[in-house]
Amino acid sequence: MASSEIETLSQALARLPGLGPRSARRAVLWLVKHRETALDQVLDALGAVRDKLVECEICGNVDTQNPCSVCADPRRDTKAICVVEDVADLWALDRARLFTGKYHVLGGKLSALDGVRPEDLAIDSLLGRVEAGGVDEVVLAMNATLEGQTTAHYIAERLEQFPVRITQLAHGLPVGGELDYLDEGTLAQALRARRPLG
Ligand SMILES: [Zn+2]
Repeated sequence: MASSEIETLSQALARLPGLGPRSARRAVLWLVKHRETALDQVLDALGAVRDKLVECEICGNVDTQNPCSVCADPRRDTKAICVVEDVADLWALDRARLFTGKYHVLGGKLSALDGVRPEDLAIDSLLGRVEAGGVDEVVLAMNATLEGQTTAHYIAERLEQFPVRITQLAHGLPVGGELDYLDEGTLAQALRARRPLG
């Protein structure tokens, strides 16, 4: 029988993406075993995340400042917005250093299966940014999955009312490919060869 402390932490960790109840319990037991070396480090890092990180109210990025360092950077091109599903995608694209504009994080993708509707994503705030003017191009950088592409087409429709160019990443992207897992060269190529959404 596991102690209630271990059960409570296991259950909390089991909610993390990619961790089920079994691996969560194993992680907790590992931490107990390595409490001297690893546990303090994890606690400090978690504390720093809780105390220092905030969500950018403009784009949804996660940073130590709000607006985030991308939104606050005056060297960034304000005429182009690259729309991504998740913060991890923003970071992946920004590592490739090819996109000099701003970003917008949706916070997921439309999914009938998971019950994710348009109002669950940061779509209205994207439309608001475009409506405010000064934006020439919106790059839809959704993952090359069915749900990602459904989301891209939905957003393209909503953007039709505005005088902006709508482009998407070139499909050198592998089908089913998630941006976060791609190497920088592939990402850079997909971004450079972006094309109008057809
Ligand atoms: Zn931001």
